[in-house]
Parts: sequence; structure tokens; C-alpha cells
Amino acid sequence: MPLLHIAVHTPAHSAISAASELLSYRSEQLLPRGSLVRVPLGKREVLGVVWGEDTDYAGEASALKSVAAVLEGIAALPESWLRLVQFAARYYQRSLGEMAITALPPALRDLTTEQLTRRLKRKSQVQPESTTADTALALNPEQAAVCAQISTNEGPFLLFGSTGSGKTEVYLHQAAQLLQRDPTAQVLVMVPEINLTPQLEARFQARFTTQLGQGSVVSMHSGMTPPQRLKSWLAAHTGQARIVLGTRMAVFASMPQLQLIIVDEEHDPSYKQQEGARYSARDLAIWRGHDLGAKVILGSATPSLESWWASRPAGTAGPQDGGGRYLRLVMPSRIGAAGIGAAGIGAAGIGATGAVATGSAAGAMPRLRMVDMRQQPRRTVFSEALLQAITERVERGEQALILLNRRGFAPVLFCGDCGWKSDCPHCSAHQVFHKNDRTLRCHHCGYTQRVPHACPSCGNPDILPLGKGTEQLEEELERLLRNVQRPDGDPARIARIDADTTRAKGALEEKLAHMHAGDVDVLVGTQMVAKGHDFRRVTLVAAVQPDGALMSSDFRAPERLFSLLLQAAGRAGRDAAYVAAQGSKVEMWLQTLQPDHAVYQALRRWDYAGFAAQQLAERRDAAMPPFAHQAIIRADARTQEVAQGFLRAAAAAAASQPLPGADDVFVYPPIPLAVQRVANIERAQMLIESPSRKALQQFLRAWQPTLHWLRSHPEHKALVRWLVDVDPQAI
Ligand code: ADP
Ligand code: ZN
Ligand code: ZN
Repeated sequence: MPLLHIAVHTPAHSAISAASELLSYRSEQLLPRGSLVRVPLGKREVLGVVWGEDTDYAGEASALKSVAAVLEGIAALPESWLRLVQFAARYYQRSLGEMAITALPPALRDLTTEQLTRRLKRKSQVQPESTTADTALALNPEQAAVCAQISTNEGPFLLFGSTGSGKTEVYLHQAAQLLQRDPTAQVLVMVPEINLTPQLEARFQARFTTQLGQGSVVSMHSGMTPPQRLKSWLAAHTGQARIVLGTRMAVFASMPQLQLIIVDEEHDPSYKQQEGARYSARDLAIWRGHDLGAKVILGSATPSLESWWASRPAGTAGPQDGGGRYLRLVMPSRIGAAGIGAAGIGAAGIGATGAVATGSAAGAMPRLRMVDMRQQPRRTVFSEALLQAITERVERGEQALILLNRRGFAPVLFCGDCGWKSDCPHCSAHQVFHKNDRTLRCHHCGYTQRVPHACPSCGNPDILPLGKGTEQLEEELERLLRNVQRPDGDPARIARIDADTTRAKGALEEKLAHMHAGDVDVLVGTQMVAKGHDFRRVTLVAAVQPDGALMSSDFRAPERLFSLLLQAAGRAGRDAAYVAAQGSKVEMWLQTLQPDHAVYQALRRWDYAGFAAQQLAERRDAAMPPFAHQAIIRADARTQEVAQGFLRAAAAAAASQPLPGADDVFVYPPIPLAVQRVANIERAQMLIESPSRKALQQFLRAWQPTLHWLRSHPEHKALVRWLVDVDPQAI
């Protein structure tokens, strides 16, 4: 009987360490690598992936358990998939089994063999999709130049294009060219959050479904049911699906003929998985493309500083100092957009460093209006000037978008007499006041209480909301715009989009539809409203309190804020014909106490490149990413002492042995997380840093067994968990 090495996901508490990542089983027949099987594990039967034959098993083979079943209806996973999973497991310091199994659709995990064989036999029902066919547009000169570069170079490519510059059209064009040339080729298109951008999905469906047939374009994201995801996965695995559109999980789709990978909005933090195996789908996309010889296009109007640094304009010298590995392609002009600000991204930002010289027609962005809140009466939420500008929009029948990245009514309730605050009893955070249902809710652990009638500490009946959330903004606008009339004489209609108002299934789609239909005059929302939406009648976008983001200790906070505000600005003035017919002003408003901050000064000129250069100079001086590579070891326990004790012991163990790479690696002392306690668990972390990615990798890998060993040591039995996060996105 042959013995097989099989990757299975052993439970986290199991004593099996990362070192012994494959388990050995007996099998009736020799199965090819990549075969899916079900194997006994403890008392359960679990999914496994055959990793190869075990030719040198040292123990008593007859004592081994046998493979329970083979998922015969499914072809073995391709070698390229096994390589990807193996790389991801090594790089992100996980076991092969965990990486392999979590990279597969959950339905495969849960189905018994019989259930699956049913399911595979059932004819895939053809859902009549109501997509309208859509034909390719003639590329404009910028798009044509970019497409020519992509055709004649290897890449990877960083497509740096303003919001609305026609990046999606470039993706569609590249996909169409490839699929026409090669009748089996497959394309992977990744997006940050698919439910926020249903338009993109619709555009791919419309462009390709009639041409390639039903089922040729499939989606993959967490909003789908497990059977739907399985169906998409199988379509990709069999090659029937030619285009897979998905969120970060889609980077692991089995696509035997994958030849083009597109990562839209590559800067978006949601490409980083924040639980379990903490991988970056964007970074894995680059690796996968390189491994397959497939082209990779990263697209963004505000690239991550890592990708910006990694890219070089066409015609300039090749890689140096870790930078310049990608080819930077530039599309400065907004198509059909109408802004009044003369300085488009092109004029100030891209022109200086861009590869594609446009010379003309710099894309127009909205005019930036900054309100210095130090000159305003204290507690002002809407400055007089901004309120006037919003009023004008309503009276002209145009739309306004108000951005505040904090949901709820107020971030905290406060007693002026005794100083009581609505702290969460389980977290080191405040409970947020939600006025709609009169609750106090913790946004970290979910703990919810009724709002007390009086201060729980001193009985004072006048407890006050402190600070503003979207709910309060909506209420305040209702009051402030009470006497403002739309052109038809009706009062202003105000709506809100945030996690609270869109919890119900279909609620987000419905609210967005109202906005698109023009049934809303002023939309208040969190960052959910800033991303990707093609609002046609918005002529004003306002960020009322953006400064809060700058207080964060995270060194990426300015980068994130700049990106959010630029994305938000991109929602205004998207329809030139409308703006011209209306004779509208297109504006982005910022209310700030720090008008001189680098983020706002760069925004004033829509100058991404200038901002990036300034931030990169700071990062270089401080030896921060992308000029250093980081990992975090996190420990959770009932007390900080226990959590930090584990980390200190881990650091001491590392120092006491000659770990490879150690000379180039710096281990910082443990510290509590910014939100130190969540759901009664104390959290601590330790930063590991190195100028060399290789040294960091070697060091982490060699350290793993020690960490596993320490964890099982009686001294650390009070530890709840530990984890490693490579290339962390939040510090
Ligand atoms: P981005 O992805 O950069 O935000 P899109 O690809 O969505 O930009 O393009 C913005 C708008 O311009 C869309 O309405 C799109 O249909 C239109 N568009 C894109 N390329 C062209 C073109 N070559 N000719 C005419 N319209 C175009
Ligand atoms: Zn009190
Ligand atoms: Zn809590």
C-alpha cells in the first residue's frame, strides 16, 4: 500500500508544530499530487490535499490510518496552485495544511464525498442573467499608450490613473485581447470589496458574457453562499470560467490557464487578510504572476507607497535599491469629468514623473475648499460657508456627499458632574452612543446596553453625547436644511450609508439605487460612500472632521487619509455633460484644524506624486517600510503580564541561539496594542524589523519551532493565543 503525504488543517491547539506540517496516510492507490481527499483526523474526517508520496516513512506503516475517500469528480489541483500555497505558507509563517485548506472553498471542507458527488452531477443550472451587452469603447490616446506598453513589456505594471481616467476600460481591453488571442486563457480580476462596486462586476458581465457564453465570468467573495462559491470555484478550476472577479480570497482560485492578473485599487488595506493566515492578496498576486509568467496589472489613483516605490516610469533605469521593479504607467486625465480646479492630478502630480506625456487636457479634479476651523466658533460642525454650499446644491437639484468616518451618534456619553464616561466594561474603549435605538454599543466586542436614564455613577440626569458620528450629522443636517427647498419645492432629502444602515441584506444596494436615481439630495456616510461609486449628480463632497485620522499612532495614517480624501473627491463631477448643462461648481470641502498639514497641502494641488515623495523621504529617514521589512508577533492573554511575558521569553530565546539572519534583524520590546483590551483579552505585540526581507524571513522561520515550544510550556499555559503577522498593515 502506498503512503501519501497529505496537507490537512490540524486544529490550532494541536501539538503538531509547523515543522511537521504534512501527515502520512495509507492509500489504496497512488494518487497524483494535488488530489483532494478526505482523511480521518482524530474523531473527525477532514479535507486533505495530497502533497506527494511518502517514500521514507520511518515508523510502523501499518499503524497509519487510511485515506477515507477520494473526491474523484474533481481533477487534481495544478502544480502552480501547490507552489502558490507552499510559498504563501512559508512566507506568512503558517503550516502548509492550514494554508492549503483555507485557500479552498468552505463547501469542499464541509461536504461529505457522497454529498459532493451529488452536487457535481447536478447540471449547473443556467441562470438567465439580465445583463445587457456592451461593446468596447475606442481607447483614448492615454489608454492606447498604456495598452501598448502593457503589450510590449513584461511588467508587473502599476497603472497610476486618476479616478475616472478609464482604468477599468484598460482592464477590459487587456482581458478582451488575451481571451480572443487564446481560447483557453483565464483572467483574474481582484477588487477590494465587491459589494461596494457592483458596477465593475456588471461591466465585466456585460462585456464578456455574450461573447464568451453564460458562466464564463464568475465571482468569488464572502457575500456568496458556500454552494455559490463552490460553483464559481469549480468553474475556474475546470477552465470553464474565463474571468474570475473576486476579493482577496480569489488570489487562491485554482485557474490552470491563468495568464493575466488585475488588482484594482491595489492600495486598499482590505487586500490584507487580518485573521488566520494573514496574507496579502496583492503581494501574492505579484508572486503568482511571476511564477506563471502571467502579466500583472496593479491599478490605483493613490497607489500604496510600497507599490509607488517599487515602480519606475517607463524609459528610466531598472531596479535599484529595492525600488523600480514594476513599470509605472500613467493616465492623468479624467474622462468626461468636469472640475473647475485647473490643476488636475496630471498637471501637478503625474506630469513631473509620468511616463505618458499628455501635454494637454490635464484631468480636472474638483476645486478644493479648505475651512480653517480654528477661525470658527468652538463646536462648529458645519461652517457657515460649507452649509451655504450644501444649500446651493440642494436648491439647484444637485447632490452633496458628506463624509465622516465614524458611525453612531456620538463616540462617547459623558457626565459633566462626576466625569463618568460610557466605557465598555470588556474593552479599553468607549461604548458608542446610538440614538436611533437608544443603545450604547462597543464597536470592538459588540457589547450592547440600553442607554442609562441618568449617570450610573452619580445619578446626574444630564449625561451628554461627546463628539459626532454619522447619525448625529444626519440629524443635524435635517435641522439645518429644514427650510431649504429643492427646485420642485420639496424639502431636502437626506440619507445615510454606514455599517449601521446597511446591515440588512440588500439595504446597501437599495440605498445606492436611491442615490443613483436622484431620490437623495444629501448623502451622509463613512468611507463606504467614498469608494468607487459612479454618482452622476454629485457636485460637492465634504469631509467635515478628517483630522481625527492624523492622531493615530500608525505611521500609515497620513497615507490612508490622503487616499481616502482623494477617492472621495473622485465622486464629484463625474458627468461633464451634466455639470455643463447645470453650470455647476464642482468642489471638495475640507474642514480642518491643521490646514498646514502635509496631507492637506498636497491635496490642495491634487499632488499624489509630491505627497508620495515627501512621505517616502520621511520613511527613508526613519527606516520604515518600504525601506525596512516588518513582522509582528502578537500575544493575547487575560493579563498584559502574561501576554508580554510570552513575548519577552520568545525574544530571550531568540537572543540565546544563533538564528540565521539575526545580525540584520531588530526585535523591539513588547508593547500593548493601541486598543489594549478587547472582550476581556489583553493584547500585546512585538515588532520585528529588518532592512533585508531575506534575513527577516530566515529569522522568522528558524524562530517558529521555539515559539511553538514556548507556547506548550507550562509557564505560558495562561496564554490565550499567539500569532505572527508578516508585512503587517496596521502597527
Ligand atoms: P476608472 O476605472 O479609472 O475610475 P473608468 O474605466 O470607470 O475609470 O472610466 C470612467 C468613465 O469613462 C466610465 O463611464 C467609462 O465608461 C468612460 N470611458 C472610459 N474609457 C472611455 C473611452 N475610451 N471613451 C469613452 N468613454 C470612456
Ligand atoms: Zn456622573
Ligand atoms: Zn467592548
